[in-house]
Amino acid sequence: MISNSTFEQFLISFRHDLHAHPELSKKEVRTTHKIREQLELHQITILPLTLATGLVAEIIGDYPGPTIVLRGDIDALPIQEENDVAFRSVSHGIMHACGHDFHTTALLGAAIQLKKQTGNIYGRILFVFQPAEEIGYGAAAIIETGLLNKADAIFGWHNDPTLPLGTVASCHGAVTASVDAFDITITGRGSHAAKPNEGNDPFIITSQLITAFQTIISRFLPSNTNAVVSITQIHGGNNRNVIPEKVVLSGTVRAFDAKIVELIKQRMQQLITGLAFTNEAIIELEWVEEFSPATNNHPELTDFALQLAELNGFTIEKMEPLSIGEDFANYQTVIPGAFVFIGSGSPYPLHHPQFKADDNILLPITNYLFQLTLAAGQHPFKKL
Ligand SMILES: [Zn+2]
Ligand SMILES: [Zn+2]
Repeated sequence: MISNSTFEQFLISFRHDLHAHPELSKKEVRTTHKIREQLELHQITILPLTLATGLVAEIIGDYPGPTIVLRGDIDALPIQEENDVAFRSVSHGIMHACGHDFHTTALLGAAIQLKKQTGNIYGRILFVFQPAEEIGYGAAAIIETGLLNKADAIFGWHNDPTLPLGTVASCHGAVTASVDAFDITITGRGSHAAKPNEGNDPFIITSQLITAFQTIISRFLPSNTNAVVSITQIHGGNNRNVIPEKVVLSGTVRAFDAKIVELIKQRMQQLITGLAFTNEAIIELEWVEEFSPATNNHPELTDFALQLAELNGFTIEKMEPLSIGEDFANYQTVIPGAFVFIGSGSPYPLHHPQFKADDNILLPITNYLFQLTLAAGQHPFKKL
């Protein structure tokens, strides 16, 4: 257990500096520079990375063992901060409202502490300071680089303001949802509003489509299916007395199983084909894999991560999956992994202009990552 108040002060001031200078996804240039400075200062190897921002660092232990990956995300959000703190964002309209400043700092802290322990490390540790999580870009881009090709296990975490401080929660399988989106263009035939019989009103078809989509979850999928289909935009027309030719609508699909996403997509297409036929209209569906698949927590690694949290003094909880997206899921398509949530004590939720996580979680998370990684080196992950 690391309990050095100077070290804790370093963590807090590093985090405050990141918080004051948040950077948007793919633009984390200063943040990357600050992390690099610290890694170099502590003689931690930085691997060559072909991305404009983000870093992958490496520590090799004195004993043979698995390759364990720790991932923290580093980007901020296009939100104007409303907190009145000394270290509030100086970048207008940009804020660390998801707490990635905490994630980055804890990951750096764990790397600094682990570097002093190579005599107790089995195998190799990779530290992924991942850019652009908020736009679902970074994880896939890091995988593309091939730097994680030989990884045996990966761990990630997110602060959760709805959990009490000192609590770590997770579950087997999906702990966050897949995020897909769709755009639908309905083309009928425009007409004078007073003579709808001379046209083919796309609004009437749109209303039928929205109603039909409500049957996908409620009538088409088994009753225990956890999924969401939401229409979030409708655009059409620009005049009170003209029925337009086209309506465009958009929405999102959240689910916890790729097979369910496929069933939803198929059913949407069936409903669209049927409505296009009966209404003599053209209806086109464009599917957008907007963010990432659902996370897929490896049961053994999840239990291991929760066990280590408990050993480090955290209260552990099993949780229900959340319908938010998390691009850590991309790593889990190629590396067995576990993603956990750690209570951060903010009275406001993630992505809120008054989100304010508690500095007191920094050292405990760093300690936890340190112990988890040391223990993981001696775990037979090769067999997963
Ligand atoms: Zn976020
Ligand atoms: Zn986040």
